[in-house]
Amino acid sequence: MTRTASTDTVSPLAHLKRNGRLDHFYIDGQWQRPQGEGVAAVVSPATEERVCEIALGNAADVDQAVQAARRAFAAWAATSPLERAALLGRVHALLVERTELFAQALTLEMGAPITYARTAHVPLAAEHLRVARDNLADYPFIRPRGTTAIVREPIGVCALITPWNWPIYQITAKVGPALAAGCTVVLKPSELSPLSALLFAEIVHEAGIPAGVFNLVNGSGPEVGAAMSSHPQVDMISITGSTRAGVLVAQAAAVTVKRVAQELGGKSPNVVLPDADLDRAIPPGVAAAFRNMGQSCSAPTRLIVPRAALDRVHELALATLAQMKVGDPTDAATTHGPLANRAQFLRVQQMIEAGMQDGARLLAGGAGRPDGLEQGYYARPTIFSDVHTDMVIAQEEIFGPVLAILPYDTVEEAIAIANDTVYGLGAHVQGTDKDQVRAVAARIQSGQVHLNYPAWDPQAPFGGYKQSGNGREYGVEGMEEYMEVKSILGYYA
Ligand code: NAD
Repeated sequence: MTRTASTDTVSPLAHLKRNGRLDHFYIDGQWQRPQGEGVAAVVSPATEERVCEIALGNAADVDQAVQAARRAFAAWAATSPLERAALLGRVHALLVERTELFAQALTLEMGAPITYARTAHVPLAAEHLRVARDNLADYPFIRPRGTTAIVREPIGVCALITPWNWPIYQITAKVGPALAAGCTVVLKPSELSPLSALLFAEIVHEAGIPAGVFNLVNGSGPEVGAAMSSHPQVDMISITGSTRAGVLVAQAAAVTVKRVAQELGGKSPNVVLPDADLDRAIPPGVAAAFRNMGQSCSAPTRLIVPRAALDRVHELALATLAQMKVGDPTDAATTHGPLANRAQFLRVQQMIEAGMQDGARLLAGGAGRPDGLEQGYYARPTIFSDVHTDMVIAQEEIFGPVLAILPYDTVEEAIAIANDTVYGLGAHVQGTDKDQVRAVAARIQSGQVHLNYPAWDPQAPFGGYKQSGNGREYGVEGMEEYMEVKSILGYYA
């Protein structure tokens, strides 16, 4: 029986297999066989079953992709901003049109609940492409300062390394602004979540992005990621991932003096000031900490609250937790799925044990799997209270469904707790007195601060202070990361 078009749109695996994508890379505008023999299994975190194998690349594949990007660079850099905007607009439209196919891929490869994949992962990913397109409308690539021209030019060939937690979102957050700036790219998605990336390469091709401008090589961090980091023809490398991998990339990139952008780990604070309306401040904060099963680098996992309000905070936090439906990610009613992979599942278990050992007060959850979910990487949504800053669960990024509630006695102490980690990625402040909320935000060492849960702003630059990274993504600043600044003196003389 022949497949109908509608079946094709919702079965990413059948689609990719039939088109022969799983063992190919997208290089120089074509699907090509890898040069090595390596393969990796893609495992469904919901069932622990192997769903397919993908090819893993090596340094020779990286070299081929980088050479293609290098050849394509001059012509792409010379396109007009409006031409690039039109092409990015087509990629955006195709992503939106294939929301269901991408959502199914995300559910399969990292356990995103299908409703959440449809309503958050894919539409938010599309926003990065829309913003990249829109920012080209009136961006001043050349501006005067006296008689000098300040010119912004694309930096060149960019290597982009992305993680598994928000797979397609992290890809568009890099590819959109890099292409908008006039750069050509080689993408290496996480080897644990490669399906949405393969689908993305298809829409880039169909949108008519010229050969060599976008290239995709699958592979492991130590092999393909490392080859990209040290390649002499790569001008810039941008990685989103753990601080550990970010440091390795920077070390390898230092030899050829590449620009390095790092979006790394986080341990974001949510400071609830004494005058905050708890009914408004606590539930959205707790929900945000558990979103995507806690696998978000900017998840506000440290809820910092007035000690006097602890009892009410506990009540509200538990009530929010009770609304979560953990289970099969293919069920449209599921709000929270499994953790994305086995390593992450084991790490979360270890962190929950560390919280118990350090003497934090377990309010909900704990180690082990939720009742009735014996198969799959399911963890129990867990809340610890009476957490102190010197405990492991207050310092280390857990990247799972574990919230730490830290009580404070004075606002000064709350700010000190907020800043007391090596990270500085996201932060939240809740309160009624706007002046005080702003004053506290000014003292938090973090690249992004949210006051009283505003709507997400895809134009707001995002990135880390301290060990959360270097550089910014999103918005105009995100595009400027991919540019060099050239000043031409006497230009307007
Ligand atoms: P990871 O560091 O293991 O992997 C991230 C990417 O880096 C993968 O593609 C991986 O293959 C690659 N990589 C690993 N070792 C490498 C090496 N030596 N050289 C080059 N590349 C290498 O991280 P992960 O487990 O996939 O993702 C989780 C981490 O990502 C968390 O720490 C999280 O906070 C962070 N993260 C940060 C942001 C942000 O914007 N700051 C967003 C999402 C995730």
